[in-house]
Amino acid sequence: MQVNGFNPDELTPSSGSFIGGQYIPGDGTEYEVIRPSDGHLIRTERGASATLVDRAVTEAAKAFKTSGWAARPPRERAKVLFRWAGLIEEHLEEIASLESLASCRLINETRHLDVGVTAEGIRFFAEAIDKLDGKVLASEENVMSMVVNEPYGVVAAISPWNVPLVLATLKIGPALAAGNAVVLKPSELTPYSILRVAELAHEAGVPAGQLAVLPGLGPETGSALVRHPLVNYVSFTGSTATGKQVMIDAANTGLKPVCLELGGKSPQLVFRDAPSLDRVADRIAGSICFNAGQVCFAGTRLVVDEKIGDELTEKIARRLKNPKPGPTWDTETTLSPIISAKQGARIADILRDAKTAGAEIVMGGKREETGNGGVFFQPTIVRNTKPDNAVILNEVFGPVLAVQSFSGVEEGIALADHPVYGLAGAVHTSDINKALLAAKSIPAGTVWVNTFGELSLNAPFGGYKQSGFGRDYGMTGLAKYLNTKTIHIRLN
Ligand code: NDP
Repeated sequence: MQVNGFNPDELTPSSGSFIGGQYIPGDGTEYEVIRPSDGHLIRTERGASATLVDRAVTEAAKAFKTSGWAARPPRERAKVLFRWAGLIEEHLEEIASLESLASCRLINETRHLDVGVTAEGIRFFAEAIDKLDGKVLASEENVMSMVVNEPYGVVAAISPWNVPLVLATLKIGPALAAGNAVVLKPSELTPYSILRVAELAHEAGVPAGQLAVLPGLGPETGSALVRHPLVNYVSFTGSTATGKQVMIDAANTGLKPVCLELGGKSPQLVFRDAPSLDRVADRIAGSICFNAGQVCFAGTRLVVDEKIGDELTEKIARRLKNPKPGPTWDTETTLSPIISAKQGARIADILRDAKTAGAEIVMGGKREETGNGGVFFQPTIVRNTKPDNAVILNEVFGPVLAVQSFSGVEEGIALADHPVYGLAGAVHTSDINKALLAAKSIPAGTVWVNTFGELSLNAPFGGYKQSGFGRDYGMTGLAKYLNTKTIHIRLN
């Protein structure tokens, strides 16, 4: 069944919610957790109801006040987080397999990327927490004015299914480092790896109640969590539509601060003086295939000088013929499954609308029939797209590249600017002036020049426009979990 991977039938993930250092059975709506690789039902689970959410948040609020976690010297908290990161690495094989079981993440990637990034991410925030200074302000002689950082209290974290473990822990890590208590709702499609990792946090010494993980349905568990009166801050990663609802709910139930990491439709802006079209083609094909395009910053719009459009499209198409679809637990697989039949149908619907509006499917465009029950989608290139075409306007979240062409620098930069999204983008040119002009002109949180997809734990990441606001990672991603207080002292 697997080649140097793992046997999915041998895994027995834990169920329920992890609250107060133990598993509590779900009491909410039932849902099925399916292996996207072969459509096999792993288990029917019950999510956390509003009652269980209330229990977890109430325990978190109590832990925040009484566990002493926030009051510890930052380096003491850091030691516990280091232990946690170490335990995650010690359980690499188990966690990588649990992550690959219910998600689209390939075992080669969870083993060699996701688990390591998770551990290193926790270490980054642990190392950083005693580097965030307060301030003493200039003031009159008898007054001392200080600015101090304080944790918010209970942070509600909500995460998606596409890179489940990394996205969840890179919320939990900084929020805990800053002294908060955290209640996380992972996507109901991918609950297992993060439950195990939360157990390890407890084993490492994070106090009971300080971290809870509550799988369940978004409108039930997620919504109850965001609206809970004892939640003080909401950190959300997911779609723009859900992000808007989360913001409304947070506003209506206490005006809680929110950080929203949302969808994207990143341009690959390629000028005719790009240093190497082969390298550009490698990067674009790589971005379309990684996680089968189910990545928020995937470079899914090729905005290319019309003089080189056909040549570059041909080079990319050649590279997109190679990926091998297969189960996530097979180390030979290079093209991930699509997370669900619903998402597969959505991709097909967008392509149908694109074609109806006059776009041409250059390659792919259909489900890949592997015969094993999973949903796979062929790497696809679409051209002759107008700016209002469905494949340009929507985040497809599949291995689909849409081509737009331009004839001058200004037109290229204007096309790169998406009407809705502004998460990331890339510019490919040998001209430093053009590179800087484009990088500064494209409204996006991250712009790569002559590269794509390089991320770093110390680099803030987040969106412009409807890709959200607030930043994850870097010192900004840590500081956001701290509130700012000014204290004025009159010295007599
Ligand atoms: P969704 O917005 O559907 O869901 C995200 C999370 O929100 C899930 O845990 C979901 O639960 C939960 N949720 C759903 N409804 C509510 C609600 N009313 N209140 C509170 N929580 C709710 O996104 P996906 O899971 O489909 O993830 C894909 C999206 O995430 C893409 O748009 C992608 O671009 C974006 N993303 C953004 C990133 C960034 O850094 N900017 C990084 C990665 C992904 P459930 O799954 O149980 O419905």
